[in-house]
Amino acid sequence: MLEAPSANTIEVVNPATLEKICEVPIQTSADVQAAYQRSRRAFQDWSQGNFEARAALMWRLRDYLLDHRDEVAEVICSETGKPKSEALLLEVTYICFAIDFYAKHAKRFLRDRGAPLHWLLRHKKVFTAYHPVGAVGFICPWNFPLTLTLGETIPALMAGNTVIIKPSEFTPRTAMLAAEICEKVGFPAGVVQTVTGDGSTGAALIEAADMISFTGSVATGRRVLEAAAKRLIPVVLELGGKDPMVVLKDADVERAANAAVWGAFANSGQICMSVERVYVEAPIAEAFTQRVVEKTRKLRQGIDHDFSVDVGSMTMPRQLQIVERHVADAVRKGAIVLTGGRRNPNFKGLFYEPTVLDKVDHSMEIMTEETFGPVLPIMRVCDENEALRLANDSRYGLNSSIWSGDQRKGLALARRLQAGNVCVNDCMVNFVATGSPFGGIKESGLGHRHGEAGIRRYCTTQSVLVDKLGLTRELTWYPYSKKSARIMTRALNFFFHSSLRKKLMG
Ligand code: NAD
Repeated sequence: MLEAPSANTIEVVNPATLEKICEVPIQTSADVQAAYQRSRRAFQDWSQGNFEARAALMWRLRDYLLDHRDEVAEVICSETGKPKSEALLLEVTYICFAIDFYAKHAKRFLRDRGAPLHWLLRHKKVFTAYHPVGAVGFICPWNFPLTLTLGETIPALMAGNTVIIKPSEFTPRTAMLAAEICEKVGFPAGVVQTVTGDGSTGAALIEAADMISFTGSVATGRRVLEAAAKRLIPVVLELGGKDPMVVLKDADVERAANAAVWGAFANSGQICMSVERVYVEAPIAEAFTQRVVEKTRKLRQGIDHDFSVDVGSMTMPRQLQIVERHVADAVRKGAIVLTGGRRNPNFKGLFYEPTVLDKVDHSMEIMTEETFGPVLPIMRVCDENEALRLANDSRYGLNSSIWSGDQRKGLALARRLQAGNVCVNDCMVNFVATGSPFGGIKESGLGHRHGEAGIRRYCTTQSVLVDKLGLTRELTWYPYSKKSARIMTRALNFFFHSSLRKKLMG
């Protein structure tokens, strides 16, 4: 909940219509510190509660969201410009899966864990315990204002942390609504809070919080990591990508083309794991490209009122300028626009037409820099080795996909893709319901969301050792003596030496 609004405000604008929606305060360092104090106070009880009680609240939250999904989708669409189907499918549905997954499995993921003990230490008991970190700050982007705010907090909350969400300055209302809903369904005051503002509010949150979970661009991620390093607080970073799709000549062309179009244009291409570039083997390149273009031309772009739109507007003016810059750079260097390639003239808002480019190469920004918009550049390659070399020729390593009629070959090549996540004959499906970790390598991030790793990261790890025998003195304690050294040497040889003679003779 917003408290103590500051004098400065940010205008929130509907990117599809360019109409002003509201103003929200740019909360100051003092506001953020106050939110942190509330969060720490709430943490005292919340962290002591049990998993069952937290799960019960999560179910209520899920049911409330389902009962009010139209209202929630409306707020998401108004500040992002995305179609209603995507607000439901990629945001509300995501929350349901995340709640389902962590409410069911958190207890098992975080229970005490024994470790294999060496013979010499069998008179001890050792296990690992997981404790919540404290008040975790979430600094969030604008492309999924529900999934990447409330959705991100679910494992942290289930682990017993309290959370402070700093939504993007472009899409703050969804997170504010989410925090209100949490309070409405019974989360204790202070457990889920938002602080609104721009980068300065995010920076203040890094100064206050016990841990930072950041999702956003590589450039900001670097600044976040530097600032957090000064306080030595834990940080996880989910950053950008330039995700390649490799289509081999034995692939199912129809399925691959359908996937390429959805993977590139869903959410107007503003998904960290969108298909950002395609490498297709020459023998099927023509057929594949033709189908992609046909399907792209059929996409319905517009402002969605009744689930009749496939592609909405973009969300952020600067991102649209990046798209325009990348396409212009590609065309200047020889790329051919097969469809799209411009802002949609039928709308005032930030609509860029779904665009397919041919004759692209790695001298172009469209193939090397994150575009984060509705553009699909297709590059023809002579064989799988060239495809892999080009796919790996990137400073990013987030998601990727490989398409082949031979699953074994696809799997073997998948392991050679330098990406934290890879799909074989599928795309953009690496989300919370799969139960497996999702994270970037290279400049795409640090740490993993989803699965067991996605909740453990919001915990400190405590190693606990209990002595079982209660001897007055251990062999390794004072005083040292020749006798104890001799026993030690013999034991060393017995337990570790590979020579049987030395094992037995000492
Ligand atoms: P951004 O980096 O511009 O902003 C992200 C957040 O950081 C915003 O809330 C912003 O106010 C805040 N911020 C800005 N400067 C800050 C500072 N100095 N200190 C602290 N906080 C600061 O990113 P964006 O444009 O909102 O989001 C788009 C980017 O997010 C893309 O690069 C996309 O790939 C990435 N992303 C990654 C994932 C993933 O899982 N890897 C998911 C979604 C989006």
